[in-house]
Amino acid sequence: MCGIVGYIGSRNCVPIILEGLRRLEYRGYDSAGIAVLRDGAFFIRKNAGKVADLANALGRENGTLTAEVGMGHTRWATHGEPNDVNAHPHWDQHQQVAIVHNGIVENYMAIKTKLLRDGHTFLGGTDTEVLAHLIGVMFEECGDLTAAVRGALREVDGTYGIVVISPKAPDKMVVARKGSPLLIGVGDGENYVASDASAIVAHTRKVVYLDDGEIAEITRHRVRTMTIDDVTVEKQVQQITLELTQIERGGFEHFMLKEIHEQPETILNAMRGRLMVDEGDVRLGGLQNTIGKLLSARRIVLTACGTSWHAALVGEYMLEQIARVPAEVEYASEFRYRDPIVNIDDVVLLISQSGETADTLSALREAKSKGATVLGIVNVVGSSIARESHGGVYVHAGPEIGVASTKAFTSQLTVLALLTILLARARGMTRERGVVLAKELATLPEKVAQVLQNTQVFRDIAEEFKHCHNALYLGRGANFPVALEGALKLKEISYIHAEGYPAAEMKHGPIALIDKNMPVVVIVPKDGIYEKVMSNIQEVRARRGRIIAVANEDDTDIDQLAEFVIRVPRTYGFFGPILNIIPLQLLAYYIAVARGTNVDQPRNLAKSVTVE
Ligand code: GLU
Repeated sequence: MCGIVGYIGSRNCVPIILEGLRRLEYRGYDSAGIAVLRDGAFFIRKNAGKVADLANALGRENGTLTAEVGMGHTRWATHGEPNDVNAHPHWDQHQQVAIVHNGIVENYMAIKTKLLRDGHTFLGGTDTEVLAHLIGVMFEECGDLTAAVRGALREVDGTYGIVVISPKAPDKMVVARKGSPLLIGVGDGENYVASDASAIVAHTRKVVYLDDGEIAEITRHRVRTMTIDDVTVEKQVQQITLELTQIERGGFEHFMLKEIHEQPETILNAMRGRLMVDEGDVRLGGLQNTIGKLLSARRIVLTACGTSWHAALVGEYMLEQIARVPAEVEYASEFRYRDPIVNIDDVVLLISQSGETADTLSALREAKSKGATVLGIVNVVGSSIARESHGGVYVHAGPEIGVASTKAFTSQLTVLALLTILLARARGMTRERGVVLAKELATLPEKVAQVLQNTQVFRDIAEEFKHCHNALYLGRGANFPVALEGALKLKEISYIHAEGYPAAEMKHGPIALIDKNMPVVVIVPKDGIYEKVMSNIQEVRARRGRIIAVANEDDTDIDQLAEFVIRVPRTYGFFGPILNIIPLQLLAYYIAVARGTNVDQPRNLAKSVTVE
């Protein structure tokens, strides 16, 4: 689930591992730890809290710690509270092996019960410690670390990305993957392992992506990849294009703010080479092989989680109203467990920033097993969803480090808009109409840049509302999901309770919450339902609620009703969400900053949720 980094070579691995862990901090975590091999034994330090705490402890106790083989971990607790004992690495009964693990050993209880019967004692409550013991037992039996890992994993149900080291096998790391990403960084006389390329890109750009079910034995000079049954697998070394500057803050106070400000560029990147303005059409290379299926689809089912689920909701409005394709949206976590009716005439569209979201990946497999065509809209190139889909579209937003998604969301919306135009044209929309839509879409990067110009209004609103406990977000049509997403952003990073509602739905319940302390954020563009939303605003005002409006530049009426007005340029209705979400991202950001929360790594959240 969280972060892994490992090293074997001839340099001191301690600073390499600590630096790698820092690069993985963005994923959100609650504890950190390191294990290295030194003088024929382990040296292990771990603690609840930050990588900086770990580094300080190491510096204090052991300023000169050096080692050539080691591994580190940032944990996002699933089993057992986040304390020092439960932090990784974990070791076995006789301290023969140490392990770091991302994922969940689902049958850990059964294994633990058996080991307890055999006299094992456990220090903490994690599933991972049980796996460490199991590998230890096998290692004592067979004396071969790689064989021991293979043997133990044969007994494991669940997901894992693991690294195992042992002072009894000091010249290797054994790593394995099932359902939790892991890649090997190939160096010269040294090799790396990491759960995410950003941890090692400062050292090497040559990587081998492990696939599910694969195990690798890594020495200084060699990587041998095999299946769990010891059949050698030949893997390709790939070149990663990630730049170090892409994963650094570049002068911004937080990654989230940097990523919000990157949006004019990332939205443009999502369209580049795809939107053909003069032809009023769209070309999406990743759909080449599935276009027939897509055009003849009975319906499109969009499934996703969190922010991507909100993008899917906007996509539903676009696909149905512009392209006239029946569309449905499902939470990926629900889709899988309700035996959904999908068949070969359906296209299931999975949306995920990381492409590793476990719930979404399970939904993909469920839909695929039922014969549907599955397509992915993902950001991370080479991720599991990208690899397991029949086709798909990368959003090309670049690494998103802030846990609360911003630029990936607007890029997802842009790709959904492209897909909509493509389908609409293929289903009979005229070229003229296509040109109008394409032209408008092409103006969005510039319009987003305009919204980003003046951030003072957000600081003012943040000062005014930083102490509030609740907030309501209202929007209609395609801006209803924007209200949901705005509320989610506020919850995620400021911990203020916020709800999104379709504006007209407010009177059916949430209106009971409105009093003179309640901030109500309303998205009210000058579209076909403008007057209706204005009436909803009046209803809030009549109960003394405080209105913050996101409105068009030429709307003068709104000034009479709203305490604060945030201006956005006009755009075509269904592209509105791409613009209207920007102020809500900034609002959440500045309120969180005013409250002093950890914006980039909000409590309890992880960036890529690879557990179900
Ligand atoms: N399930 C393990 C634990 O709770 C691994 C968590 C993680 O992926 O960080 O310790």
